Amino acid sequence: MESLSLANSLEQRYRAVVEEIVRAARQANRAPEKVQLVIASKTQSADAIEVLIQLGHRVFGENRVQEAQEKWPLLRAKYPDVQLHLIGPLQTNKAKEAVHLFDVIETVDRERLAKVLAAEQEKQNKKLRYMIEVNIGAEEQKSGIMPNAAMFLLGQCRDVYGLAVEGLMCIPPVGQQASPYFARLAKLAGDLSLPNLSMGMTSDFPLAIQLGATHVRVGTAIFGHRAVAAG
Ligand SMILES: *Cc1c(COP(=O)(O)O)cnc(C)c1O
Repeated sequence: MESLSLANSLEQRYRAVVEEIVRAARQANRAPEKVQLVIASKTQSADAIEVLIQLGHRVFGENRVQEAQEKWPLLRAKYPDVQLHLIGPLQTNKAKEAVHLFDVIETVDRERLAKVLAAEQEKQNKKLRYMIEVNIGAEEQKSGIMPNAAMFLLGQCRDVYGLAVEGLMCIPPVGQQASPYFARLAKLAGDLSLPNLSMGMTSDFPLAIQLGATHVRVGTAIFGHRAVAAG
């Protein structure tokens, strides 16, 4: 088990993040319950995650299928109402495991992936929810569909493959003001009539809420700094 003091500090930091979400939502004249905290638990132990589940939190995000497979099956069996989001890039050869383990895949960014996910859903007789990841800064070497191709991919996902796409997700360019990128993603989601917007991390989630985020993905503010980097 995690030590009592670690559990205490996790609880304090978790409550502080929840308060900050409520404050940011109210400031933006938005209902706080319209903003879902997705706790980004990559590299964190099952024990630390369980502390948060026992505090009543239910929505978590993992980056890697393999890591999630190691940590989550037991936790899910114990807490069946947990909702697990995949927030890291997905290779098609991991689609089977991803469909089996996750409830929401936030990182659909190409037709081939949509096609493989659709086939897996069918095989497993399971319907997940999806978001399209947008490379909102149009950066080279970054995952996500280019903004000007998002509408076409959305049409393919829905009309060709029957995926339940509910929103857009982005990770803005590192080291720049995030607000123009958040605003751009919000505009794009509005143009596409998509209700959900997953944007904002530890450094900028209040800003993301101000600009319309319905899902904020927060790790460091709750767990402290990660010991090792994870993609
Ligand atoms: C790790 C991660 C987060 C959380 O980042 P923090 O800065 O630790 O809050 C959010 N989104 C994605 C895609 C991540 O990989």
